[in-house]
Amino acid sequence: MSAVQDVGIVGAGASGLAAAALLAEAGVAVVVYEATPDLAALGSGITLQGNALRALDRVGVWEQVKERSFAFDVTGIRAPGREAPLVAEMRDNRMGGPAYPATAGMYRPDLAEILLGRARAAGATVRFGARVTGLTQADDRVTLTLADAAGASTTVTHDLVVGADGLNSTVRELIGIETRPEPNGMGIFRAFVRRPAGADHTELVFGGPSYIAGFCPTGEDTMYAYLVEDKQDRQGLTAAEGSRIMAEKARPYGAHWDDVRAQLEQGVEHVHYTWFTSHLVAEPWHRGRAVVIGDAAHSCPPTVAQGAAQALEDAVVLADVLTTHDTLTDALWTEFHARRVPRASAVVEVSNQIASWLLAHERGDVEGLHRVISDLVSQEP
Ligand SMILES: Cc1cc2nc3c(=O)[nH]c(=O)nc-3n(C[C@H](O)[C@H](O)[C@H](O)COP(=O)(O)OP(=O)(O)OC[C@H]3O[C@@H](n4cnc5c(N)ncnc54)[C@H](O)[C@@H]3O)c2cc1C
Repeated sequence: MSAVQDVGIVGAGASGLAAAALLAEAGVAVVVYEATPDLAALGSGITLQGNALRALDRVGVWEQVKERSFAFDVTGIRAPGREAPLVAEMRDNRMGGPAYPATAGMYRPDLAEILLGRARAAGATVRFGARVTGLTQADDRVTLTLADAAGASTTVTHDLVVGADGLNSTVRELIGIETRPEPNGMGIFRAFVRRPAGADHTELVFGGPSYIAGFCPTGEDTMYAYLVEDKQDRQGLTAAEGSRIMAEKARPYGAHWDDVRAQLEQGVEHVHYTWFTSHLVAEPWHRGRAVVIGDAAHSCPPTVAQGAAQALEDAVVLADVLTTHDTLTDALWTEFHARRVPRASAVVEVSNQIASWLLAHERGDVEGLHRVISDLVSQEP
C-alpha cells in the first residue's frame, strides 16, 4: 500500500521522469505534465558521478546508461598556458560503490530519452505540451490548471503533485515558496564536440583567462568541453557566434584544447551558454499535498558536478517514502526531509564555496571540500 494512489508530476527532466518511473513501477497511477512539445534537453553533456549512477540503477536504467555513456575513474589537472603541463592525475572515489565507475559522461538527450522510455514502460503517462499554470488544494486533492500550446486551459486532480519543474519552478511559486535562484556571477560555455584521441577522462584547468577550462568524454567519439567566465549577457547567442567566441577564449589553453579549438573554428552545432545560479529551499519542501524536488528545490554552480545526482536522489527518496508509508503523514515528510535536506544543503554550500574561491582568485582547500562531498554522497541517501 502506498501513501498516495495517483500522482501528478510537473516536469519531464531527470528528477520528474525518475520519480515517475519508480512510482509507476510500484503501482501508483502517474501522469507527467511537460510544458515543452517534446524532450528538449540541451544538446550538450553531463557528468554523472557514482551516486548518480547508483540512483539511475534504482530507477532501472543503469544498463542502458552504461551502454550509452563513457566511464572513467581518473581526473587530470593541467596548468593553464599553451604548454598545459599535467599537474596531477587523481583516481576518483567510486561514490556509488564498487559496482559503478567513479564517473560516466553522457550526452544529455540520450539520458533524457532513456528516462522517458523507462517511465513509460513502468506505466506512467507523459503529456508533452502541457504547461502547469495553476494549483489549488482542497479535500485531500490537488487540482492543476494546464495550458496547451494554443492557450486552451483544462484542469486535472491528483492525490499529490510533485514540482519537478526545474530552476524557475511554477509549482514552487504556486505553493507560496518565495526562494528563487540567484546568479552567482559566473557563466559557462558548453560545446558538444568530437573526442580527440587520448582524451579519455575529464581534464580541468583552473585559471588562465577562464575560471575553469574543462572537458568530459561522453562516448567513443564525443565529449563536451566547457569554459567558465564572468557572466555576460549572451542571450540569443547562435551556435556560430558561440563557436567563434569559445574558440577565441580557448586560444590560451593547450593539450586537447588545440583539437577542440580547431573544431570550434570550423563551427560546432551544439554550443550553449548559461549562468550559474544558487538557491536552496528551506525545509519543508512541501506545502500540503505538493512538494518540490530537483532544481525546483535547490541549485548550485556545478563545481562538484552533483546537481543532477542530487535531483535523482530526491526522486529516489521521495518514491521510497511514498511507497513505504501507508498515508501521507508528518512522519513521511520528516523522513523525506531528514534524508534529503542535509545532503542537498551540503552540496549547495560546498559548490558555492568553491565558486567563491574561483571568483576571488583565492586558493582554498578545494580537494578537502571534494572529499567532504565524496564521503557524504558515498552513503546511500
Ligand atoms: C551549466 C550546468 C552544468 C551542469 N552540469 C552538471 C553535471 O555535470 N552533473 C550533474 O549532476 N549536474 C549538473 N548540472 C545540474 C543539472 O543539470 C540539474 O541539476 C538537473 O538537470 C535538474 O533536473 P530537474 O529534473 O530537477 O530539472 P530540469 O531538468 O530543469 O527539468 C524541469 C522540466 O520541467 C519543465 N517545466 C518547467 N516549468 C513547467 C511547467 N510550468 N509546466 C510543465 N513543465 C514545466 C521544463 O520544461 C523541464 O523539462 C549542471 C547545471 C548547469 C546549469
